[in-house]
Amino acid sequence: MPKYSLIIPIYNEEETIAEMYRRVSSVMDGLDGTSELILINDGSKDRSLVMLRELHNNDERVCYLSLARNFGHQVAVTAGLNFARGEAVIVLDADLQDPPELIPEMIELWQQDYQVVYAQRTKRLQESWFKRSTAFMFYRLLKLLADVDIPADTGDYCLMDRKVVDILNSMPERNRYIRGLRAWIGFRQTFVRFERDPRYAGQVKYTFSKSFSLALNSLVSFSRIPLRFSTYLGLFSAALSLFMAILVLYWRIHEAKSPVTGFATIMIAIFFLGSVQLIGIGILGEYIGRIYEEIKGRPLYTIAEVSKFPKENQK
Ligand code: UDP
Ligand code: MG
Repeated sequence: MPKYSLIIPIYNEEETIAEMYRRVSSVMDGLDGTSELILINDGSKDRSLVMLRELHNNDERVCYLSLARNFGHQVAVTAGLNFARGEAVIVLDADLQDPPELIPEMIELWQQDYQVVYAQRTKRLQESWFKRSTAFMFYRLLKLLADVDIPADTGDYCLMDRKVVDILNSMPERNRYIRGLRAWIGFRQTFVRFERDPRYAGQVKYTFSKSFSLALNSLVSFSRIPLRFSTYLGLFSAALSLFMAILVLYWRIHEAKSPVTGFATIMIAIFFLGSVQLIGIGILGEYIGRIYEEIKGRPLYTIAEVSKFPKENQK
């Protein structure tokens, strides 16, 4: 069995694969034990899969699996974790935004008996203003709402001990916000800091809508405060309407001509209450939708092709 497993999800990364392999394999050469590199093709539409086959043929440490369609980053990583056999498992991105040269430092901490070593970004180089500011706000909001302490500004780049990976693999939930689950599991966790490099080549694969749904997933999976928020909103509007009722009655009794006479007041009240209700239903819907997802119990992903793993062993 290899001592280290490196997991890299690949989605349309034909421009980055060669350079990624060059840098990652040179890091692997320097490690103090055997290692395997597991590449997960997440339904790429370009030449990525062909390139993975090539890498596998030329280097026996490289294995790959190819999902039957695009399942998304978190699921691709999960698939990799299911197949990884190392005592320590390292997850990183294909685009070299997570510098692989950080791995020896993470391994050193692992050897000092930390079971999770995650990489925390101190700076994001050359990412758009919009992405940086929304990410900044999102991580702060998550910190405020989530019921486990999910470290801010950390992505999925991390090293996990076998024990943690086994627990992660045994968790049945389908909404896999891996950073959150990793924090939830506990054990001794620490971090290394790094500056996030710009993408080596190609376009960012996380579209705004993918990032948004990841953000929403994480909030709903790790917090029930949004549900409570709709209760508070309801209470607030109830208090407001009581106040309005008293005001209107007072005017009706004490003033000959009420100032609240018209159409505008009624419309505003209707719109306000309507939106309060819709927001409430929406929040409820987010949670119910996820219950529905979980209850269907479909497999998390389907696999179209798996390379030979050195000494075949699959879960
Ligand atoms: N990725 C994936 N499936 C997707 C989207 C992205 O496997 O549906 C992979 C992608 O190939 C890369 C990693 O996830 O290795 C991170 O994606 P990207 O760099 O585009 O996003 P970032 O995290 O930089 O915003
Ligand atoms: Mg990236």
